[in-house]
Amino acid sequence: MPREDVWLASDLRIAADCRRRLSILHDDNLTAAGPNFVTHLECSETGELYEADVVHGLSAAGKPLLVRYDLDGVRGALTKAALAGRPRDMWRWRELLPVRSAESIVSLGECETPLIALPRLGARHSATPPVVKDEGRLPTGSFKARGLAMAVSMAKALGIGRIAMPTNGNAGAALAAYCAAAGIEAFVFCPDDTPEVNVREIALQGAKVWRVNGLIGDCGAIVGAGRQAMDWFDLSTLKEPYRIEGKKTMGLELAEQLDWQMPDVIFYPTGGGTGLIGMWKAFAELEAIGFIGPERPRMVAVQASGCAPIVRAWEAGERHAAKWEDAHTVAAGIRVPAAIGDFLILDAVREAGGFAIAVDDGAIIEARDRIAATDGLLLCPEGAATAAAWEVALDQGLIGKDDRCVLFNCATGLKYPMPEANATLDQFQPIAWDTLR
Ligand SMILES: *Cc1c(COP(=O)(O)O)cnc(C)c1O
Repeated sequence: MPREDVWLASDLRIAADCRRRLSILHDDNLTAAGPNFVTHLECSETGELYEADVVHGLSAAGKPLLVRYDLDGVRGALTKAALAGRPRDMWRWRELLPVRSAESIVSLGECETPLIALPRLGARHSATPPVVKDEGRLPTGSFKARGLAMAVSMAKALGIGRIAMPTNGNAGAALAAYCAAAGIEAFVFCPDDTPEVNVREIALQGAKVWRVNGLIGDCGAIVGAGRQAMDWFDLSTLKEPYRIEGKKTMGLELAEQLDWQMPDVIFYPTGGGTGLIGMWKAFAELEAIGFIGPERPRMVAVQASGCAPIVRAWEAGERHAAKWEDAHTVAAGIRVPAAIGDFLILDAVREAGGFAIAVDDGAIIEARDRIAATDGLLLCPEGAATAAAWEVALDQGLIGKDDRCVLFNCATGLKYPMPEANATLDQFQPIAWDTLR
């Protein structure tokens, strides 16, 4: 095929795919004008009700708001068979999502992420190999894309023109990309030791970004303080209702990939906890629409021992987690000293019969390096923390050797610093082959 034709053909394929997606969003009872199945929002602590379709931050009680749906309606409208015929992306769950029209969707190609077994890791412990849900395949290289695709789509639908956010890196990168795609202005504040690649990708994707001499909470305080003067919308973790709905799709997707059988245990690297809370919500909604029964996986919140407020609260039997002082870990995505959704994380872990566990940076990096070399999957440090925690939990008898465990790798390992590899060869000198070992 001549070059022009190749381009044309690929263009047509993309156009056809978009049309298919749009038509799918428009069919059945979902039209460009709605209605979909959102009924209202609800305070996660007091249960107080809030109107949908207007801009919300936290509830009056200062707690996260959760989106509620007419689940009986969804039960009548959605079948597993209909779902199976849809494109393999996160928008296929539209009956359980807050976006009301195809036009407001801001998409950069949020693919379904694969499940990848780690047989060598399993063999090392004579255990059923754990399976990694590899979220590093998503746009901007992390699962923050799920939350931000949803939150930015909703912001666009609600007419928000300027957004600000504190970030440890990946959330800011996803915010920058989706805001660029949506034509929304983005202001991002990150700790000054955020991985260099994150700060640069944020800047490159059109956001204004500052390095702040503090931690993520200090960056969040700047976002809060600037609200009046800058007239921006605060998109901090759980301070608006829709990121959790995007992250929820991890749980929906996992259930379908496992043919509606729950795994025994899910290990989740927990920072703000959006994904853990979101998956827990997803499972409840799937049960309410009749797609799964009452069985649930044990949810395990994994943190780094240099920043483990949830683990400390779990061990003390508390419902809220005190702020962690002097937080430090190589796993930047889970360096969150204080989480506004702490009680939602701890409630979910408790209800699930799970636990919270911390692993130190040495174990995280050792696990990352070993698994990359033996199983061929380069995890991010946060993902490697779940693998290290799986090993410790196995050793301590917190889980069984036959348990089917899912580990969440939340970003591509390529975004993080790697050990040097600097062996050289001089092509003009004779090569001593027996030294190439
Ligand atoms: C944000 C992030 C996490 C933590 O996710 P939460 O759902 O906010 O707890 C874990 N790993 C990586 C790579 C992240 O970017």
